[in-house]
Amino acid sequence: MNLVLMGLPGAGKGTQAEKIVAKYDVPHISTGDMFRAAMSEGTELGLQAKSFMDKGELVPDEVTIGIVRERLSKADCEKGFLLDGFPRTVPQAEALENILSELGRNIDYVINIQVDQNILMERLTGRRICKSCGATYHLVFNPPAETGVCDRCGGELYQRPDDNEETVQNRLEVNVKQTQPLLDFYEEKGYLKNINGQQHIDQVFSDIDSLLRDLK
Ligand SMILES: [Zn+2]
Repeated sequence: MNLVLMGLPGAGKGTQAEKIVAKYDVPHISTGDMFRAAMSEGTELGLQAKSFMDKGELVPDEVTIGIVRERLSKADCEKGFLLDGFPRTVPQAEALENILSELGRNIDYVINIQVDQNILMERLTGRRICKSCGATYHLVFNPPAETGVCDRCGGELYQRPDDNEETVQNRLEVNVKQTQPLLDFYEEKGYLKNINGQQHIDQVFSDIDSLLRDLK
């Protein structure tokens, strides 16, 4: 079961990744985890990645791709993997095709969790945090009993600057621009499976599950 998981911020990728991993017992490989592991193991590529990150620079593709190659060659990936956050670009996707063909494998599905941008805005801008105790609320999904007041401690709720409409809108637009060519690439390869992410979490998983059930 060789999977790539895609979806815009707020689409519920993390939740669905957890459910896939729990049921099918394949490693969840996120870019961040992969970098951290390579650095803490002190592999040559890990050290190279660290030197770029320490300087505040982007890790170049050849290093990232090398780290992905190392990770996918590990024993726990023999039964499959769930890639999350990689690839981000078409050149990275092409590199992934090469890595997998070296390993004699191929992607089964690229699962893209689709959610309308208006709904993502609502999900991402609705978060409110208590100034005193740090409790998290959501105006729609987990509202406090009294507007603007923490249920737990009576503290004042505020919106983090990262969650304001303009910042979120920007983040979504950058993501859409970045992922569209990748979706087109995978569509053309026949790997792309769009999943309706606007349903209940359990229904989203049930749709993903019915795709995966037939995979070896
Ligand atoms: Zn509080």
